[in-house]
Amino acid sequence: MIYFISDLHLEESRPDITGAFLYFMDQIQDQAQALYILGDFFEAWIGDDENTALQQQIKARLKRFSDAGKALYFMHGNRDFLIGDLFAEETGAQLLPDPTVVTIGAQRILLMHGDSLCTGDLAYMKFRATIRNPAFLEPFLKRPLEERRTTAAQLRAMSQANNQNKDQEIMDVTPEEVPKVMAQHQVPLMIHGHTHRPAIHELEVNGKLAQRIVLGDWDSEIWYLAMDEETLPVLNTMPFPKSNQA
Ligand code: MN
Repeated sequence: MIYFISDLHLEESRPDITGAFLYFMDQIQDQAQALYILGDFFEAWIGDDENTALQQQIKARLKRFSDAGKALYFMHGNRDFLIGDLFAEETGAQLLPDPTVVTIGAQRILLMHGDSLCTGDLAYMKFRATIRNPAFLEPFLKRPLEERRTTAAQLRAMSQANNQNKDQEIMDVTPEEVPKVMAQHQVPLMIHGHTHRPAIHELEVNGKLAQRIVLGDWDSEIWYLAMDEETLPVLNTMPFPKSNQA
């Protein structure tokens, strides 16, 4: 089986999510050929050199997965776009650009985190471009960890404050953007996360039936998509485990 997850938002203050992730990994370890993590895996990431106890625990679990000969792919989200080559090396993950087209069986699939589809949110798109510019990033990554933590917390507070005044609609993907991007990449299926609105949307791309599958966030249940070369994708949930101590 091939699994897709996103938007766990792992962080110290949510040991239940860490527990759910470890539980999920144990559930899929044997039957998985590959795991795709499509961003916002961590709530925040200020550089691969941080290496907290939580990060070590998660990296070790990913490494155990990839050491078993399973493919592990990671795409950045807007929260963890600073995950870099050291993380990839430590976990055995391959970093995927956003967007990436993969072929599974006969199916071409477009993978994205999803934030780049929210083109109606002009303030966010502008912010996204600014913080991903090397002119901001290169000096940022050279600053001491403590300073980076402070800046990251300020940026998050700002973004949360801005989002409170935004229309719910503007925080979702721009509907017209979806068939446009899918037509560009000539795919009948797109999988993304980010919006925390898990669903399977049917649409038309170039006159043909197409699907957009939105992965769910892990706030109260485990959301994942499973498929393989022969089977169609299934969007599924599992409850968080009962004895949930990470
Ligand atoms: Mn996101």
